[in-house]
Amino acid sequence: MISTSINYERQGKQQGYLRVPYSYNLAGWANLMIPITVINNGPGPTVLALAGNHGDEYQGQIALMKLARELTPEMVSGRLIMIPSMNLPAAKAGTRLSPVDGMNLNRAFPGKPEGPVTGMIADYLTRVLFPLADVVMDMHAGGRGLLFYPCSTMHLVSDLKQRNAMIDAALAWNTDFVFVGIEIAGSGLLPVEAENQGKIVITTELGGGESIPAEVHALIQSGLRNVLTHCGVLKGQPKTRQQLGKPDSILVASLHEHDYLLAPESGIFETHVSLGKRVEAGELIGSIHFLERPDREPLRIEAQSGGFLLATRAPCLTQQGDCVGVISEEVDAQSIRSKTF
Ligand SMILES: [Zn+2]
Repeated sequence: MISTSINYERQGKQQGYLRVPYSYNLAGWANLMIPITVINNGPGPTVLALAGNHGDEYQGQIALMKLARELTPEMVSGRLIMIPSMNLPAAKAGTRLSPVDGMNLNRAFPGKPEGPVTGMIADYLTRVLFPLADVVMDMHAGGRGLLFYPCSTMHLVSDLKQRNAMIDAALAWNTDFVFVGIEIAGSGLLPVEAENQGKIVITTELGGGESIPAEVHALIQSGLRNVLTHCGVLKGQPKTRQQLGKPDSILVASLHEHDYLLAPESGIFETHVSLGKRVEAGELIGSIHFLERPDREPLRIEAQSGGFLLATRAPCLTQQGDCVGVISEEVDAQSIRSKTF
């Protein structure tokens, strides 16, 4: 149901739209128009670079819009397909979920060709764009809900060749941490669909909240170019952390449900530990205060495992069941590269 003026086989640079049929009360024949840039230049890999899966995660959207403006065909080897704001209605509204149908694009895969809108976007990615790609990049951040220590992220796929290619790409972001995680909140994720199609999947959690520091923008913009160079779709030599005068990235994993701390009660969350700091199991990482019962002792949120605090809640106002902390333990590269978990 989605149409486009883009010809994915044509050489050179094209700027166009994915047109998604969409009716609303003031326009029966309307389309949602999702911007897409495709640059095709001779032989090489196809990389599909995506941001704005969640509308309130702006870092990747800005980085991809800038890149799409700046690149010329001579800078590319192969094909680079860029969609800076995949969930355009959510990006315009600054929300995680689409205001058009209330759906989370990152829970909508493999998608539904008959709609609603979010399901149609997922379906087009699953059936048209993923099959074209060798590499699928999906840039996330914590959005309004979570503050993440800026890191590249990945799942431990069972195919070791695919997994090792994903680890190498994750390292090319040159972030302080490479985070290996599990999904604790549902199915239908974009990266999982792309992984199941055998793609090298590259994901991030680059910061969070609604105010993004300059150094986080700089990190994602330089990391994005470095990863695309590493993949061979941009010409040039990728830089290592060593060349940048930095220590090696630390590989960390949160593979157990208890690594993800959920608020047992609603209230006002106070954090006690800075992001990226190491904590021990049992250490107090936050408190929940009760507006209606200031006489009541705040609820203690303690780490259930030892490791680095990689994410914490962004807004203080917290509902029961919200994630208020993610603890991630250092893992050695060899076991992550070869072991079954
Ligand atoms: Zn996200």
